[in-house]
Amino acid sequence: MKIGLFYKEKNNENAAFVKEQLEKNGFSLDNINPNVVISIGGDGTFLQAVHAYINKLDSIKFIGVNYGSLGFFCGYTKEDIPELIKELKEGLSVKQYSLLKGEIKYHDKEQVIYALNEIRIENPFHTLISDVFIDKDKLETFRGNGLMVCSPLGSSAYNKSLGGALIDSDLNALELTEIAGLDNNIFHSLKSSLVVSGNKKISFKGELSGTMVGYDNLSLNKEGNLKEITVSISDKKVSIVYSKNNSYIKTVRKSFVL
Ligand code: NAP
Ligand code: MN
Repeated sequence: MKIGLFYKEKNNENAAFVKEQLEKNGFSLDNINPNVVISIGGDGTFLQAVHAYINKLDSIKFIGVNYGSLGFFCGYTKEDIPELIKELKEGLSVKQYSLLKGEIKYHDKEQVIYALNEIRIENPFHTLISDVFIDKDKLETFRGNGLMVCSPLGSSAYNKSLGGALIDSDLNALELTEIAGLDNNIFHSLKSSLVVSGNKKISFKGELSGTMVGYDNLSLNKEGNLKEITVSISDKKVSIVYSKNNSYIKTVRKSFVL
């Protein structure tokens, strides 16, 4: 087993501690071709770790050790490191989650992106006007600040701040959520979030100049010549390690209730 460590500079000392514990237990470290990547930090760090290895996801298991604030993705806390080392020796319990795929059309090129939490279009300075399609069916013409599609795992992130529902991470689904939709006598949109089957595709089409594409901690198209974006569930999967007694509801309770 080759273990890569991923962390931000502020966690240099914590990473040095984890490294020391791993080496003491005979594990070899390799950040170039790891089979296991330990993210030392919070969810922001975990998302960056997944994007850093986005072309090697098939061969990597991701472990989050929470040295951040929330740590929704993190199966372990710093107190769990002895337990984690035991599980690294005896066998890890892994769950696989599909990434979202975003197929983007600009006026002059096309691009594909992948995300764990959500893919969104946003224009905070001018009313964004976009048609929304579910597969071939038009749902609405939306006016507002933006539109988001999140995965079940991402439903507890930005989506939750926007009033979207949490989705059990075992479900294969997409959730469409509005960002500040106009709602008056002239312009309407759905307002509530819409959860659809993971076999469907959600598209945003319009004259989207000046609109940014945001995905997880990343963003694109600052110049703005976006025409269309279609979000679906991709074939790419990320393998996340959790301690054996973890469950989605326990994580929700720990993160938002207690
Ligand atoms: P960040 O400040 O690290 O993330 C914002 C907060 O969301 C942090 O508290 C983070 O936890 C938490 N978080 C991230 N993914 C989560 C998930 N799947 N479930 C529950 N909580 C989650 O910012 P960043 O590094 O740029 O991360 C990008 C993410 O921030 C985006 O994917 C988006 O979901 C989220 N975001 C939220 C808002 C909002 O709520 N208004 C606005 C923009 C972006 P940690 O504290 O452990 O890092
Ligand atoms: Mn963070």
